[in-house]
Amino acid sequence: MNSSQRSPKEIDVSVIVPVFNEESVLPEFHKRLTSVLNTVRESSEIIYVNDGSTDNSTAVINDFKQTRTKIRLINLSRNFGKEGAMCAGFSKSNGKAVILIDADLQDPPELIPLMVSKWKNGFDIVNMQRTIRRGESWFKKFSAAMFYRILNKLSDYHIPADVGDFRLLSRRVVNELNQLTEKNVYMKGLLVWPGFDQVILQFERDRRWCGDSKWPFLKLVGLAVDGITSFSTKPLQLATYLGGTLAFTSFLYGLWVILKTIFFGESVTGFPTIMVAMLALGGFQLLSIGLIGSYVGRIYNEVKNRPRFIIKDEIVSEAMESSVTR
Ligand code: UDP
Ligand code: MG
Repeated sequence: MNSSQRSPKEIDVSVIVPVFNEESVLPEFHKRLTSVLNTVRESSEIIYVNDGSTDNSTAVINDFKQTRTKIRLINLSRNFGKEGAMCAGFSKSNGKAVILIDADLQDPPELIPLMVSKWKNGFDIVNMQRTIRRGESWFKKFSAAMFYRILNKLSDYHIPADVGDFRLLSRRVVNELNQLTEKNVYMKGLLVWPGFDQVILQFERDRRWCGDSKWPFLKLVGLAVDGITSFSTKPLQLATYLGGTLAFTSFLYGLWVILKTIFFGESVTGFPTIMVAMLALGGFQLLSIGLIGSYVGRIYNEVKNRPRFIIKDEIVSEAMESSVTR
């Protein structure tokens, strides 16, 4: 990169921050982020993507004073979820590298210079792996560990465990991601899908600075199902294997019953056996239908082809050269 040939508008690093009702933490987050960005040589922009916040997050961001770093605020038309907000950020980013970071200070902004230096060393993706997850229950940690194990057993390529959305992506990776039209985005899988040269750095994840997680348990289960069904069709084959095994066992059992009746005769017995067989079969059938249903649901969502996000307006900071886009 030759800086002398660069036009003044070119930006090295875009930092994308999805924001959903984070008014209490935003001032502290912004202070820490800008002071870090001011220490790196590369030029930068912060893109706050307001994901339909209902609190004062927008006003708080509007009050941020311009420093060396350009500040942009993209308002979505409603709450589209973090994945939608991140996609909106990607589509609007200008940087040669893009960093995703949460607003709640669980991902320390102080690690950004290290991430940028790895990118300068030629890596296209810098994955940040959590070694310690502070402020999370053992149950959340355990279920997360199980989830990554299952996902990687089923998925055709490796999705690194404990790597959240906090990471750096080079422009060419972001360009690839912008071209994807998938509607049910499972970001953690999608972000490694393009491939390229990757490196994993480890860090200790802090607890939330304040406020509550926006991911209640059921939403997390939904995310886990989304993750598995986006990246593997193996669960669909499960029904075939289960059905096959059951059919084969029933065949053997049937044969045995016939032979037994022929040679020893049979009084009316076997009610429990029938009940057990019926219930088991019914259970497997419902399970398989449910599984197929979740894939059909995904296809349905893809076919509808609705956008992943809608941008209401965009505000560029300082004199807030307000440029409204749709
Ligand atoms: N977030 C968002 N839209 C949502 C939910 C969350 O943009 O619908 C943002 C949120 O403001 C934060 C980040 O995504 O910056 C991570 O959210 P949270 O801390 O609630 O998730 P957790 O750390 O518990 O996984
Ligand atoms: Mg968080």
